[in-house]
Amino acid sequence: MQQKFIPFTLPLIEEEEKREVLEVLESGWITTGPKAKQFEQEFASFVGSKHAIAVNSCTAALHLALEAIGIQEGDEVVIPSMTFAATAEVVRYFKARPVLVDTNPYTLNIDPDKIEDLLVRYKASGVSKKNSSRVKAIIPVHFAGLPCDMDAIKQLAERHKLRVIEDAAHSFPATYNGRMVGTLGDITCFSFYATKTITTGEGGMITTDNDEYASRMRIMSLHGISRDAWKRYSSEGSWYYEITAPGFKYNLTDIAAAIGLAQLKKAESMCMRRQNIASIYNEAFRDVPEIEIPVTNETRSWEDSKVEQIEDKYGHSWHLYVIKLNLEKLTIDRDQFIEELKGRGIGTSVHFIPLHIHPYYRDTYGYKPQDFPNAYDAYKRIISLPIYPKMPDEDVGRVVGAVKEVVQKNRR
Ligand SMILES: *Cc1c(COP(=O)(O)O)cnc(C)c1O
Repeated sequence: MQQKFIPFTLPLIEEEEKREVLEVLESGWITTGPKAKQFEQEFASFVGSKHAIAVNSCTAALHLALEAIGIQEGDEVVIPSMTFAATAEVVRYFKARPVLVDTNPYTLNIDPDKIEDLLVRYKASGVSKKNSSRVKAIIPVHFAGLPCDMDAIKQLAERHKLRVIEDAAHSFPATYNGRMVGTLGDITCFSFYATKTITTGEGGMITTDNDEYASRMRIMSLHGISRDAWKRYSSEGSWYYEITAPGFKYNLTDIAAAIGLAQLKKAESMCMRRQNIASIYNEAFRDVPEIEIPVTNETRSWEDSKVEQIEDKYGHSWHLYVIKLNLEKLTIDRDQFIEELKGRGIGTSVHFIPLHIHPYYRDTYGYKPQDFPNAYDAYKRIISLPIYPKMPDEDVGRVVGAVKEVVQKNRR
């Protein structure tokens, strides 16, 4: 009998979301308004940031963040190769250059030592003269929801006078040294895309403690119009407005914000369920030599990572559960492994196809696969398994069973 297909991901939309949305639909105010404001306030207090600005995607958030710190044509921004399209394309919006850096082979987060190497090499080669480096910022991506080594990144950012914009699309809620992601770098960008840990269908949030950045991003998110442009059709507002810059159209609707408010209320319980599924997977796969389970701390070796799977320093949001296949112990490759799982009714994905092997970045900057060996090697071995709060125990069990069966059948 063909078993029901287990999707790779599903949002958890319940009565609260429906109730909140209905309320907005009936209120007569469906675009950016009181719900978006409330969502910003509640999000800011959740992460403990001074400002929160609701926008319609994390991509928009990253674009606004780079604009606020003054990225210009010809500037350079350091990003990991192991990330999604959005992290790099926003740099291209400015005709600036995304400079790719390899990842730590265990965590798959950007490797701070490799950033340092790059900056030192730049200085030595005269690409950037003394303090007029073209590298202006770093965008660390908290891969899968595991925070990057932010102390190291912030220290080197300080040394080289760089801003830190976090791509936190995967990492809500996550912590680093007891502090919430959203309060660590200069600006943090979150995603509420349909697959992310909390969702508004499409949406994003920017957090920062910097008043100047916050005010610039707020204005630029809505046509560059002077303060609180959205109020101009309300009783508190006025018809008069001034365009202070050629801004963008990145505001979040109240319909979306209403979903966000309901999701925010259960963010913690949803995260706990993700943690719970991750620990079931960890237990099930820990002693399977063909599989490496995700590393949850910053580490220099796979053996170290096994000794200290959970370290308090890193509070993981478990947006993704990414296993690595030990291909030398298997007779099939990653693609075939995925097909075998699909045949058993299990939806999976691959995060990510490294940027440097995509045609645009490969051809524009002449990158070769081996330029970032850790990202490239990982790419050939990774599979993201289903992990979401709506997933019943029975499905978690089926995923475990299917993975073990495929391993058993294809052992070398
Ligand atoms: C999903 C994602 C984004 C983009 O988020 P949107 O809200 O869809 O714009 C950015 N970076 C990473 C790493 C992502 O996974």
